[in-house]
Amino acid sequence: MGKFRNKLANFMRGRYGMDDLYYFLIGMIFLFMIIYTFTRKLIFYVIEMILFIFVVFRTFSRNYNARRKENELYLSLSKPVRSFFSLSRKRIRDRNSYRYRKCPNCHQVLRLPIRKGKNSVKCPKCGKTFEVRI
Ligand SMILES: [Zn+2]
Repeated sequence: MGKFRNKLANFMRGRYGMDDLYYFLIGMIFLFMIIYTFTRKLIFYVIEMILFIFVVFRTFSRNYNARRKENELYLSLSKPVRSFFSLSRKRIRDRNSYRYRKCPNCHQVLRLPIRKGKNSVKCPKCGKTFEVRI
């Protein structure tokens, strides 16, 4: 077992491995696997296989720069979606003590402690004061 682990470590040396895009692609592979299971449409199986080959290729690739660029592209493209889910998680977590409101001037999302009625809020980013109802 120790020998095998050494061999594996040797094999992986200098190879790219896993990143955020890796986990996203694994999720997509599972998604297409489920879709294929229910629809039995060959196209979904083909997409699943292409994604799988791409994941294996990226993980064992020695071209760090190209792989990092792919990951950065994925991160910048998925940023709106990821920040939406991150904000939703925070909204649920803080629902008893805070409300999240957007500044009408700079669109920065602010976390405000719950105080009933109309409140005057000063945005820490742009310095503008605005009214909110909580
Ligand atoms: Zn602002």
